Amino acid sequence: MVALRDPREAHPKPPFPPQQQERPGLASRMQPRPDHGEQSYKGSGRLLGRKALVTGGDSGIGRAAAIAFAREGADVAFNYLPAEEEDAREVVQLIRAAGRKAFPLPGDLRSEDFCRRLVDDAREALGGLDLLVNNAGFQAAQSSLLDISTEQFDSTFKVNVYALFWITKAALPHLPAGATIINTASINAYDPAEDLVDYAATKAAIASLTKSLAKQLTPKGIRVNAVAPGPFWTPLQPSGGQKPEKLVKFGADSPTGRPGQPAEIAPLYVLLADSAASFASGDIYGSTGGRPQG
Ligand code: NAD
Ligand code: MG
Repeated sequence: MVALRDPREAHPKPPFPPQQQERPGLASRMQPRPDHGEQSYKGSGRLLGRKALVTGGDSGIGRAAAIAFAREGADVAFNYLPAEEEDAREVVQLIRAAGRKAFPLPGDLRSEDFCRRLVDDAREALGGLDLLVNNAGFQAAQSSLLDISTEQFDSTFKVNVYALFWITKAALPHLPAGATIINTASINAYDPAEDLVDYAATKAAIASLTKSLAKQLTPKGIRVNAVAPGPFWTPLQPSGGQKPEKLVKFGADSPTGRPGQPAEIAPLYVLLADSAASFASGDIYGSTGGRPQG
């Protein structure tokens, strides 16, 4: 018997305590701490022997996916920024506690050279690669277009779009038939927020890249999909992703009445990675707490 759980009551609701962090932010400093499935995710061998690379795997949605992948039997290499070492160390422990190999590979994805090296290092450590999750993201809320600097615009596109292009290009010659690519898009791809102009544009680009790459790669046996989250409680938000006045009521306008927790979206990444979903390619899967996609 599995106890029925009312999704409205399953996790913390707004209002949240006011909090701000320096970018990129740490999960360990959030109040309440995000739930990445550390206590709850149970694997059943769905990804036994798979070799995964997850960007942004230290915290948030990427951490939840990394934990779930490991508990499903995958070895996991993951990327993060050097400033996130504290969060990354927890993820290494969690992957190893699941009995799988963990390879932490820090570095800045805004460099093409680094992206290429990341893929090479991950392949070498894992002994191959068959599950690529392009998940790292940069988000800086600005009320006016006039406040978006060229530097910000550049970072948003470098982390969210260029890194996906560079990493996928480096990985492609080595991905066997049966491999899977999962990109993290956003509800902003369809419904761009007025204060996330640059970010929303990158997420629309990710949705487009996902569909064109699926058309190109599915005939070679490589499935490509994206996940498009609604509001999730992760360090991206208190470290400049949301204005402080919006953060205290983050997720309040969701039909579920709260933001999602990373643990609630990890099962979607597992589903898309699983070879059992062998006809799933070229689509974008939402997890929005009840806000249909356009
Ligand atoms: P997060 O802060 O936990 O993860 C984002 C990660 O991006 C960071 O941990 C960091 O390691 C990585 N990153 C940022 N800049 C980088 C750089 N220059 N080099 C290397 N890594 C860098 O937050 P999250 O919400 O879990 O974000 C994961 C993905 O989910 C992002 O693509 C984000 O756009 C997307 N998303 C989040 C939400 C949300 O509400 N939290 C909603 C929709 C989509
Ligand atoms: Mg992080």
